[in-house]
Amino acid sequence: MKTHLLVLDLDETLIHRSLSSLGYQPTMVVREWLIYFRPFCRSFLRDCQRKFDIGIWTASSSSYAIPIVVELFRGITPPRFIFTAVDCRREDNQVSKPLERVETFGYSLSRVLLVDDRPEMYQHHPENGICIPPFLGSFIDSELLYLQPYLESLALLSNVREVNKDWRHPQEYTNRFLGGIGLHSLLSQAESLESVETEDSQVSEVTS
Ligand SMILES: [Mg+2]
Repeated sequence: MKTHLLVLDLDETLIHRSLSSLGYQPTMVVREWLIYFRPFCRSFLRDCQRKFDIGIWTASSSSYAIPIVVELFRGITPPRFIFTAVDCRREDNQVSKPLERVETFGYSLSRVLLVDDRPEMYQHHPENGICIPPFLGSFIDSELLYLQPYLESLALLSNVREVNKDWRHPQEYTNRFLGGIGLHSLLSQAESLESVETEDSQVSEVTS
């Protein structure tokens, strides 16, 4: 068992389902649904398993989710659990994923991340959530390629909840944090980032 747990949503995060063809071959068919896997999803899962245990949490039914999860994890370590609609919380017509449930598997919420295309799913644990742009079937989507190194850096932290999850500038992030600075902790680097930005702006003023 690893110290960190990565919980992944299915629909619009790892896959997209459609009742009609998107113009290219679906990965699989489940009931009436054509299932399109997000580009790079298998290598993403494999690479994330270096640092994380992985759990799947979908707001859909288990009969829909299980065959997809089986195909997603073919050839690699299966997920620690598959949570489905019955594990979600429903209040005021809102559905969410009560992340504290993973504590029953021995994980501390300080080391749990949930990647979901719908922020309301982690409304009760916003500091654990990472919002990913929804995958609607584009075969040139590359969000998982961007997300994976960011997740890997978060896996070095003893408390992932203390870090701002704004990762929407991945190249900038990679250059600054993973390039020459070294990873002592993202928290101390968050402080140094302010000074780096100041220096950058001073340099650009001098050279412009
Ligand atoms: Mg979703």
